[in-house]
Amino acid sequence: MTSNTLQQFLMTNLDDLKEKGLYNTIDTLDGSNGAKIKIKGRELINLSSNNYLGLATDERLKDAAIKAVEDYGVGAGAVRTINGTLKLHDELEAKLADFKHTEAAIAYQSGFNCNMAAISAVMDKNDAILSDELNHASIIDGCRLSRAKTIRFNHSDMDDLRQKAKEATESGLYNKIMVITDGVFSMDGDIAKLPEIVQIAEEFDLITYVDDAHGSGVLGKGAGTVKHFGLSEKIDFQIGTLSKAIGVVGGYVAGKKHLIDWLKVRSRPFLFSTSLTPADLAATITSIEILSNSTDLQEKLWENSEYLKNGLKKLGFNIGESETPITPCIIGDEVTTQHFSKRLNDEGVYAKSIVFPTVPKGTGRVRNMPTAAHTKEMLDDTLAIYEKVGKEMNLI
Ligand code: PMP
Repeated sequence: MTSNTLQQFLMTNLDDLKEKGLYNTIDTLDGSNGAKIKIKGRELINLSSNNYLGLATDERLKDAAIKAVEDYGVGAGAVRTINGTLKLHDELEAKLADFKHTEAAIAYQSGFNCNMAAISAVMDKNDAILSDELNHASIIDGCRLSRAKTIRFNHSDMDDLRQKAKEATESGLYNKIMVITDGVFSMDGDIAKLPEIVQIAEEFDLITYVDDAHGSGVLGKGAGTVKHFGLSEKIDFQIGTLSKAIGVVGGYVAGKKHLIDWLKVRSRPFLFSTSLTPADLAATITSIEILSNSTDLQEKLWENSEYLKNGLKKLGFNIGESETPITPCIIGDEVTTQHFSKRLNDEGVYAKSIVFPTVPKGTGRVRNMPTAAHTKEMLDDTLAIYEKVGKEMNLI
């Protein structure tokens, strides 16, 4: 029997979302999430995946995953601390530490639960967290879970951060104070001002925490935003996901050995949830090896994103201030943005609209994620479709 209260709660809220146009429908892909995708039998140029380097469909990763299944089976069989730690886990964590230029690393089941795990393992109700207002949802949830006082600072506003760090320090209320930022912000593609953040952190003895989900594999010759600024020694927590440029699934923290030792005994998803599968681990190890040995894929990614950005700019679209491959095409009004994305889709380009509340009201955009796997022909076709639909809708 369904609870009447639950039924009423669900129906009221679902109807409300639908009325406001905020009920997301989900597209199902017929095949892989590559540079082209198929949805309901229609082939589309895909500009919405986080598969930055095309590694999610790379033959070398697939072969490694298949071999791992043959050698180890399909599941790790237990949580890491019972007997679910396979040789592949140790190998991956050593490779991640090398890749990030840190003493050690710990892998989690996703980037999302990595943030939930890492923040709450170190911070508690006697602490404070200074968090960029545009930080990812998993950071926000990790802060909440920790029960530390969360103090939001204006996006990448270093004066505001310094002021709030000063106030928190001088209040004498907190045992520890942490500053958290995304390395690359996923909606606008701007890069965190890490050199200034590190300076402020040194001034006020803040713990530094960078979630580089969108920078790893993309910036710093692949090693990420922290390496891009030459700050590997200065950041306490380097967080990443294994699901975007790396192409598989999972998350990690890279840092000093003592920090990783602590997370292995105190972070709850590590202790109480079964770990990544052998196939995930082996594919990820291969991915990190590829990234450590060559920058060819990154170069292709940047070449493609410059090409797309220049093309959109030349057509007269507003692509914001992105410093990375993330290429927003800012339309403004929410309804127009959604219609624009739909028309692009009709014409053969899959680029999702992103509107309030994910981004501020009036800054609706279609977000383009070019990858190393796109060909010049696909990007030319994309630009021709943007031109056609943009003119038809009087946007350019
Ligand atoms: N942090 C940031 C900044 C992200 O953009 C994302 C992915 N949307 C995550 C964490 C979560 O990563 P995952 O998909 O591996 O859970």
